[in-house]
Amino acid sequence: MSTQLRAGRYAPSPSGDLHVGNLRTAVLAWLFARTTGRGFLIRMEDLDRTAPGADAGQLADLAALGIDWDPPVVYQSDRLATYRAIIDGLHNAGETFECFCTRREILEAPSAPHAPQGAYPGTCRDLTEAQRAERRSTRPPAIRIRTHVSEFAVFDELHGSYTGAVDDFVIQRNDGTPAYNLAVVVDDAAQGVDQVVRGDDLLSSAPRQAYLATRLGSVPPTYAHVPMVLNADGVRLSKRDGAVTLTDLAAQGIPTTTVLSRIASSLGLAARDETVDLATLSERFDPGALPKSPWILAPTEWVTSPP
Ligand code: GLU
Repeated sequence: MSTQLRAGRYAPSPSGDLHVGNLRTAVLAWLFARTTGRGFLIRMEDLDRTAPGADAGQLADLAALGIDWDPPVVYQSDRLATYRAIIDGLHNAGETFECFCTRREILEAPSAPHAPQGAYPGTCRDLTEAQRAERRSTRPPAIRIRTHVSEFAVFDELHGSYTGAVDDFVIQRNDGTPAYNLAVVVDDAAQGVDQVVRGDDLLSSAPRQAYLATRLGSVPPTYAHVPMVLNADGVRLSKRDGAVTLTDLAAQGIPTTTVLSRIASSLGLAARDETVDLATLSERFDPGALPKSPWILAPTEWVTSPP
């Protein structure tokens, strides 16, 4: 994989078409990277649910908005041997343990004193080899990292210094797949990503990921966790909200230029029906002036104002 110093990135999961919320995050990731002289990379996070052809559709939609990126597009499914080598390295150093807990067992276990809500309670951390052998016959284990801290601080362009919980989190799921929290850290480091822009639903994951980066000998990136797009009921936008992808909107007569214009106006970077391109938005972009609250996207958003 090509290593490039200083890059931002957009890392979609190719499970279907990108919706307006995803596209807005991608525009922001591009603006943050390109206005700071960084490269911009696309990584397909396809270790999980994927839909055939979704990656090509997503790339076409990003290009339609004017987003460009530095090739190649990296697919996590091509990098399994790399993740495996890192997991094995941690395992051989005694820095992992097998965990046989179900989700329910974790929720129901009494949490350790002072442990944050929802943190892994440590049930399998100190099992003996005999106990592990017995449990392996009932359930395949997930692999957790042994962490040596309970919290970690990251720097975020929108949230400032943010400190969050770090528990013994899963780095390999019990079906053998590398966990998202491991793959994202390994890839960002390998690709020279030093700026991570993504939805603020992932803010609480950043301390774990930044901590893992330091454990693997890399410098954590800086972050910008940007507000999500919500529907009129205040719930995170999804495909259930009707026409929310470029394809759906085009079918209703809403061109991509209007979508970009609305995304830009929601960010305070354009007037409502002003036709803009990314070069213009780059000139106007000021991270400090970005809205800190979600964009509520009502269906009436797409009605064009009379001239
Ligand atoms: N693949 C994740 C998603 O689509 C994003 C992960 C990240 O940006 O770190 O939500």
